[in-house]
Amino acid sequence: MSVAAEICADAEPRADGVEYLQWVPGKRHFRCEKLCGTWSTDDCSSRYMRAMASDERVSACRFCPIGAVHAGKVDPDQTAISSAKVKITGRPDHDSRCTRCGRLNLRIIHSGAEICVSCWNRQREWRLGRNSKGKAPITFVPLQVRRVGIMVDGVPSYQMIADTQNEVEPLAKCIRFARESVAFHDEQPGITVWNAQTRSFEYRDRANPSRVMLELKQDGVIRYVSAATDNLCPGDIAAVVRMPTLRLSVYTAVDWLGMDEEGDGAAITVEWRPQAIVCASCNIALVQARRFAGRIECRCPACKSSSTVH
Ligand SMILES: [Zn+2]
Ligand SMILES: [Zn+2]
Repeated sequence: MSVAAEICADAEPRADGVEYLQWVPGKRHFRCEKLCGTWSTDDCSSRYMRAMASDERVSACRFCPIGAVHAGKVDPDQTAISSAKVKITGRPDHDSRCTRCGRLNLRIIHSGAEICVSCWNRQREWRLGRNSKGKAPITFVPLQVRRVGIMVDGVPSYQMIADTQNEVEPLAKCIRFARESVAFHDEQPGITVWNAQTRSFEYRDRANPSRVMLELKQDGVIRYVSAATDNLCPGDIAAVVRMPTLRLSVYTAVDWLGMDEEGDGAAITVEWRPQAIVCASCNIALVQARRFAGRIECRCPACKSSSTVH
């Protein structure tokens, strides 16, 4: 649904495609599909403003294009459709780049791995339990399944990527495997709360926080479904809380990477390397970083945004 602001005769902003009801003088109501209820535009507007100010209790309304219209915040060029307006002039990926170590111009082992020969050999030794000298590989970082937030048919969805060694790899693999360009998102499937009984974090339903989110995995895709806590079946396990996909502008990425003094993140070298950060301007590529003249620089290979251009 396209949402555009339209100023009508009573000078109140109307969201395109929304039907308004005049129940009480001076108030307009409408049916909100996301919250499954009828709301006044005033309530919608205040929920949107609170959500944008990071109030977790109303986070379902965060970035809602209809809420933005009601709050008078809509600038069709700047809000909901801004990502569609970003010009993509480059490719998000390079086929000769290893999705694991990030180095470029290497011979890549395809067959679903998309890693370089060196990374492939280290992985093989790890699986065998011994290296070329017959010793157990002790420095190999074990492979894990990681979750990535990607858009499917305009809906935030979650993909599980197996056999990944670092945070860049699942994102790089999503881009490599996608036949057409993939768009990422950084939403969580629910509100994150601490459960004192199970002593773990769990996701609660945004629309009704008394309900817990369960996780259904199928073909590498996770679907989250909401269930009443007193109505769980044996074997129903609350969804595992995972980090959302990190999505930053190239400018914020510079600050973010600069804070990682100990170098826990991906190595920043004098060569441009993809980081575990999705470009917030285009949402389709990974922010690349390099160290240049003692400073960190960031750029996006797809939309060409750059931290050195203001
Ligand atoms: Zn490699
Ligand atoms: Zn970009």
